[in-house]
Amino acid sequence: MRLSQYFLPVLKENPSEAQIVSHRLMLRAGMVRQLTSGIYSWLPLGLRVLRNIEKIIREEMDASGAQEVLMATLQPTDLWKESGRYEALGKEMLRFPDRAERELLYSPTCEEVITDIVRTNFRSYRDLPRNLYQIQWKFRDEIRPRFGVMRGREFLMKDSYSFDLDYEGAKKHYNLMYDTYLRMFARMGLTAIPVRADSGAIGGDLSHEFQVVADTGESALYYDAAFDDIRDGKISMTTEEMRGLYAAADEQHKPDAIAKDRLREARGIEVGHIFYLGKKYSEVLGAKITNKEGVDTVLEMGCYGVGVSRLVGAIIEASHDDAGIIWPESVAPFKVGLINLRVGDAKCDATCQNIYEALQGKGIDVLYDDTDERAGGKFATMDLIGLPWQVVVGPKGAEKGVVELKNRKSGEKVELSVEAALAKLA
Ligand code: ATP
Ligand code: MG
Repeated sequence: MRLSQYFLPVLKENPSEAQIVSHRLMLRAGMVRQLTSGIYSWLPLGLRVLRNIEKIIREEMDASGAQEVLMATLQPTDLWKESGRYEALGKEMLRFPDRAERELLYSPTCEEVITDIVRTNFRSYRDLPRNLYQIQWKFRDEIRPRFGVMRGREFLMKDSYSFDLDYEGAKKHYNLMYDTYLRMFARMGLTAIPVRADSGAIGGDLSHEFQVVADTGESALYYDAAFDDIRDGKISMTTEEMRGLYAAADEQHKPDAIAKDRLREARGIEVGHIFYLGKKYSEVLGAKITNKEGVDTVLEMGCYGVGVSRLVGAIIEASHDDAGIIWPESVAPFKVGLINLRVGDAKCDATCQNIYEALQGKGIDVLYDDTDERAGGKFATMDLIGLPWQVVVGPKGAEKGVVELKNRKSGEKVELSVEAALAKLA
């Protein structure tokens, strides 16, 4: 993509409405724009990141054996009256009548709809086990939308729902999702800490929130120092080993569970939540199948959410510096930013064109700054939007066939021949 043709409305100044760094950087980097309180439009750069996050989630969900569906954003409120949750969600649920005066709602979550699909389409134990997921917009009329996409009113969520014959099956699904979540967040460059969550009577110990450490997080977090070591790349652990590590939302819970010198205290951003539901919805909505003995059996369920749009903010909170965003390669909107320092200079133009085409030929996403802005502005924009690699082409280097390759994260710069730079990026 050529920057001269790209819709990238970067802001030089810090927008006054943004209180936290991710919100500030998303606005400055031209990723999103607020339409009204808690509701955002995604611009090209932001949408690329959102899509990359979705892709990782899809790949990991598919690999776990889950199947993708897409449920409507609008639902009839009748289903919620049937499940008994019509009142419970209160004002968070946006309701409105259609032209026939039938009441609809904009989906805040989909337990009712998926259970309805299952009760009318699953017949016997042969239809099990199943895990159905979607990546779909939700609406919750939050009292205090804030921090940009972090707590929006309209937001993108991955939600999935598992169906099993018995508790053992549901538990297996739960554990599978636990491992899947750790893997998917790790692929996004995040160390997500699974925190046992209070799930009331139904969940038992089968409820975990996945928290990313950030000063601006809304949850309190107490955890084993090993999670910091994993994040800093000092140690690596299997998901099985991570399971054994201490993490809690309330230190008072288990003050003796961890040695004081291993205990870390921080704030966390909840990026995912897994939850054993039991028969809460299947019982009341009548989702049952016949088991091997031909006996009607109410299904065991679990639900598993990921805050897809919130993740964009959470990744920035976890990875930025004073100059801007530092994208992990897996979610970066482009892998390479190519900077032409003297547009119009025949050597610079030819070198850039050559690199641009070579990278594209290798399937590497590149944003080519072919604008006539001054050098300082070009560097500032590239640092702000945080692409993992920058290739800088100036007149002196172009003369010798040499370019500068900069790693956005480490800040390290090396002079290389065009061929060597291309080889390094490939
Ligand atoms: P929270 O405690 O943050 O309100 P929740 O318990 O209401 O979250 P769930 O219903 O479990 O959230 O939704 C699944 C995921 O969706 C959450 O883990 C979170 O990452 C994301 N999410 C929830 N509410 C919002 C919101 N208002 N804006 C953006 N993402 C959200
Ligand atoms: Mg909530």
